[in-house]
Amino acid sequence: MSSLEIELFPCLSDNYGLLIHDPESGETAAIDTPEASKIEATCEQRGWSLTQIWNTHHHPDHTGGNLSLKKTHGLTITGPDQIAGRIPGLDKGVSGGDSFMFGAHKVDVIFTPGHTVDHIIYYVADAHDGQGAAFVGDTIFVLGCGRLFEGSPADMYGSMAAIAKLPDSTNLYCAHEYTLSNARFAVTVEPENQDLLNYVKRAKEMREQGLPTVPTTVAMEKKTNPFMRASTPERLGEIRAAKDSF
Ligand code: ZN
Ligand code: FE
Repeated sequence: MSSLEIELFPCLSDNYGLLIHDPESGETAAIDTPEASKIEATCEQRGWSLTQIWNTHHHPDHTGGNLSLKKTHGLTITGPDQIAGRIPGLDKGVSGGDSFMFGAHKVDVIFTPGHTVDHIIYYVADAHDGQGAAFVGDTIFVLGCGRLFEGSPADMYGSMAAIAKLPDSTNLYCAHEYTLSNARFAVTVEPENQDLLNYVKRAKEMREQGLPTVPTTVAMEKKTNPFMRASTPERLGEIRAAKDSF
């Protein structure tokens, strides 16, 4: 038995490309398609052939590579279908509460509206070692959350709560490296939060060394992320508005 392998690589200006590979079934999924050429190159390096795309939402930096990758690989595209026509090349529409198998591993689809009205995330628990990974798109970032382009503060509050319900050890794979800019804002919200201050110091060091701060974990975000820690939807709305003009 071999566990799932996850590969993260920078794309565009601040996106992360993500691949998940199951050595047993040979399946490989790209979570969103920020940059087709980088996804191809990473698959080639690892000797993986791309069989699936899982989209979190329709924004071009998440679906831009869908059609060209589908053309070359004849793969299956899974994504939200609540609003028809949003996901280029969509084969399999899913929504919150759905699940599907990736080899022997179960993938749960969780509805996380806020950034868009139909945003979804994918939670995979490794069938062998139980380690969880959630591909969270633009819902939660390290120390931050997605902008409310379509949804309300109450939507995002519910989405934060859904992520907080995952096991504490779950690795959260965010779609952007926004950590240092989120950190500058987060310390203005909770200047006394020692876990936050310690983490910000570590994140700065990681970025100086050119390392990604993604993945984070549910446990870490519960201790440090002001949006996950907001006590009410109104409070989340307040700090989201403050961050927008920060
Ligand atoms: Zn987006
Ligand atoms: Fe994005």
